[in-house]
Parts: sequence; C-alpha cells; structure tokens
Amino acid sequence: MPKYRKGTGPIPRPTPVTQPFWDGTREHRLMLQKCGNGHVFYYARTHCPVCLSNELDWVEASGRGRLYSYTVVRRPQSEAFAEDCPYVVAAITLDEGPRMTSLLVECDPDGVQELIDRPVEVVWDDVAEGLAMPYFRPV
Ligand SMILES: [Zn+2]
Repeated sequence: MPKYRKGTGPIPRPTPVTQPFWDGTREHRLMLQKCGNGHVFYYARTHCPVCLSNELDWVEASGRGRLYSYTVVRRPQSEAFAEDCPYVVAAITLDEGPRMTSLLVECDPDGVQELIDRPVEVVWDDVAEGLAMPYFRPV
C-alpha cells in the first residue's frame, strides 16, 4: 500500500456523526449519506442539506469522480505538512453527485490543469489504526 503523505500532519478525529464514514475508511469503502428522499451528500451531517430530513442511511460510493478544481500547496500551513509540499488539494465531483475536497496524488502538481474534468478514482492512505484517508488519482 503506497504511503502518499510523508508529513506528520494531524489525522481526523471522528465524531458520533462522522464515525460511520471513518469506519468505512477502515475497509477502504467510501461512504456517503443518503436521505429518505434520495438526496446523496457529503460531508456527514445530522440532516439532509436539501430537504432537512433526518432519516439518513449510509451508502457506499463507487470511488469514482471527476476533477472539478484544485490548488497546489507549495508553502505548508504548518511544519507538519512541510515534507508533503508541493501537494494538490482537489475538489472532486463524485459520480454520485456530491463534491468532496481531498488530495490529488500520483500526478505532477505543475500539470494538474490538464486534468480538469478528467476521471479520477479513490486511493487509500492508512494513516492510523482503523482509519484511512481517501485521496484521488487520475484514471
Ligand atoms: Zn433530502
């Protein structure tokens, strides 16, 4: 399994609302919430952002999407991310509809403009016991 991040940056701390999402990452399953009216969304919430329903289920996403936008981080926000620079922070439009912010890996940070609207797929970085980060790479 590749290790995409070299730095020692902080890892997410699951909350009761986000715990099912992070439980999915343990098995490398990208989980999204879906309300009783069929709206699929990301990030995890207590109510649907479209219809405010609180009847929510978790569904597994395909892990596929397209690159919507990006920025290249060349100067770290903290020393914990210094070893990772330059890296690409990307907005991915998932095939299921929601847009997700993540990292785009396995690409040249100076060539990402060419990848706009191109297909990407999820890859996993096991960053802690029982918790993996979903990143994306060009297909
Ligand atoms: Zn809804």
